[in-house]
Amino acid sequence: MESLRSGLLSVLEKVKNSVILDTKEVDSIIRELQRVLLKADVDVRLVFELSEKIKKKFFSREIPPGFSKRDVLIKILYDELVSLLGGENATPYTLGRMPYKIMLVGIEGSGKTTTAAKLAKYLKENGYSVGLIAADTYRPGAYEQLQQLATKIGVSFYGDPQCKDPVRIVEEGVKVLEGRGVQVFIIDTAGRHKDEVSLMQEVSEIYEKLKPDDVILVVDATQGKGVAKQAIAFKEKVPLGHVVVTKLDGSAKGGGALSAVASTGAKVAFIGTGEKLDDFEAFDPYKFVARLLGMPDLEGLLRKFQALEEHEKERARLAAAGKITLLDLKEQLLEIKKLGPLSKVLEMLGGPPIAVKGSLEGGEKEIDKWIAVLNSMTEEELLKPEIIDRSRMTRIARGSGTTVRDVKRLLESYTQMKKIMRQIYRSRRRIQGF
Ligand code: GDP
Repeated sequence: MESLRSGLLSVLEKVKNSVILDTKEVDSIIRELQRVLLKADVDVRLVFELSEKIKKKFFSREIPPGFSKRDVLIKILYDELVSLLGGENATPYTLGRMPYKIMLVGIEGSGKTTTAAKLAKYLKENGYSVGLIAADTYRPGAYEQLQQLATKIGVSFYGDPQCKDPVRIVEEGVKVLEGRGVQVFIIDTAGRHKDEVSLMQEVSEIYEKLKPDDVILVVDATQGKGVAKQAIAFKEKVPLGHVVVTKLDGSAKGGGALSAVASTGAKVAFIGTGEKLDDFEAFDPYKFVARLLGMPDLEGLLRKFQALEEHEKERARLAAAGKITLLDLKEQLLEIKKLGPLSKVLEMLGGPPIAVKGSLEGGEKEIDKWIAVLNSMTEEELLKPEIIDRSRMTRIARGSGTTVRDVKRLLESYTQMKKIMRQIYRSRRRIQGF
């Protein structure tokens, strides 16, 4: 994954060194990103879809106050990479009701036996009583390998090197291990056969007999995007619950493998990051991408966006309930200002009567004062004016070059406005028959 990491860092570097982030600059950043992802063996179609989404989002999104264009682009890059790795449907791996039976499938060499032991160790450390069952009767040495690993981690084990019928082994294994108090059964199955058809047939037979609670497919990251084919082939035979992607340490194609799995709709639950039993971790696309991007300031930026999203949600909630906030008021006033002087606005609408000219100028000043006061408030104060106490008023007045009286007056007007809005809202609801 090192090459993907350094590639993505070079993309970020390009973002940071950009000047105006116009179409030309963004295109060049996207081209660099495409190069990096294709090198990591991410499928061409996925790379293009991702590029289009990034561009569309970036050019259609307004830059929120307090954020730079760069911030927004980095956040979009982060979000889209997370989504490429299955972010939206990722959930932590949890077990259901006991007893719980997990069947591991995957082609030979994918790291299935090693993963069975790693998973057993992980679940044991999480307080479960785990048992391993060796049902790979095909690969020479598979039985001994799993037996040794079970002894090493101190979990129960069942296997029968004399028996060539995996279905019988599984049935017998569950019975024997249940007698030893095992709650979670992990079944290692064959990954090779005379031919693919008989392998898939065997997998189906074990599935039908065992009725496992989860089927985990083990795939090797060095296969890159090729793992999608494996996922699809197994999915046709058995309902895949999760996927483990192994050998992400050393592989330059890890990004391709992870995104290929996500594109099939399967969830990556764990990743293997080395040969040792502890080189195994729960897969969290959000943390994974954050680690890949590895920017020290990324975390701070993500937190800032999170706060923004929470505020936006809060505003949407208030708006839905017919409540206006000071933030709405501020935006409305800024909109009015954008139109130009009030007298001009009225002129465009047919011209103000001479008599109101003077008071219009007063109104103009008033708007400027209100905007200054609102500009001195924090986002929290704008959304929850009830927290504005005397000392906050003093701070706001000082910050806006106004007086505490001005701040008070604004808050009073706002309260009036809110009342009117509430009345309008109530009567509207009544009309709508709520
Ligand atoms: P199986 O045929 O699918 O049961 O595969 P094995 O569990 O025997 O693993 C095949 C090889 O891959 C072994 O040499 C393992 O040590 C190695 N292996 C498994 N998982 C990982 C991993 O996450 N990283 C690395 N580097 N090697 C792994």
